[in-house]
Amino acid sequence: MNRLLYALLSGLLFCSLLSCSNKKEPTFQPGVIITFDDAFVDEWFDANKVLKKYDWKATFNVCRIDSIGAPQLQKLHQLENEGHEIAGHGYHHYNAVKFIAKNGIDEYLKQEIDPMIRSMKHKGFKVTSFAYPYGERSADLDKALYSRFKIIRGRAFCGSKPVNEGCYFRDSKYVYAFDIDNSHVHFSYHYLLELLDYAKKNNKILVLCSHKPVKDVTDNYQTKIETLEFVCNYIKLNNMKFYTLNDLNQLIEK
Ligand SMILES: [Zn+2]
Repeated sequence: MNRLLYALLSGLLFCSLLSCSNKKEPTFQPGVIITFDDAFVDEWFDANKVLKKYDWKATFNVCRIDSIGAPQLQKLHQLENEGHEIAGHGYHHYNAVKFIAKNGIDEYLKQEIDPMIRSMKHKGFKVTSFAYPYGERSADLDKALYSRFKIIRGRAFCGSKPVNEGCYFRDSKYVYAFDIDNSHVHFSYHYLLELLDYAKKNNKILVLCSHKPVKDVTDNYQTKIETLEFVCNYIKLNNMKFYTLNDLNQLIEK
């Protein structure tokens, strides 16, 4: 009897030691989150046709939902049905920091956040992630949005060494994206490759943001399809994973 008890207890101890050591090791596959902001639905839809072959997944952060036409809403639903995430990017696309400096947080929630959630819900989208327009955020805003969204994305503005970059998932519901638009001052293929290599070697999830995918760049806020293919190719070749913002919610240690 005593021997049995001893065996049971040591088994329990062994299990708890195991789960304890497991807790410290990230159990997820390294990968990327590709996010797109604004309302370039036709261009997103066309980019998806090209990038499908990589089994990619993206997160589309939509602003001004009530200005989006029925054919484009249909396209958003199709993207969602294919495993992409449709998330929020503001009802009006206000610069949050400037808006609250003038009108306060309550008014921001009333004009920019709650109508967005309501209208997107009405159109069949259950929004759980949010990306700040212009990447402009503050600690007070993060706090105010905490209960409304599972994942909140800002932007990482520096172009420092990957180890210092804020654009990796860090076991938090707040994430920051590196902008891969051609016009972004820190964008280059060389640097993007460094960021991807760092994710691969260090078991990280890299967060990227883009706006309008195009074949040839003609303006600001445009990302070459070629750049997106470069990222997707890297992910496939290195057995990494495509995540959506919402996927991170399952990875955060509660
Ligand atoms: Zn935007």
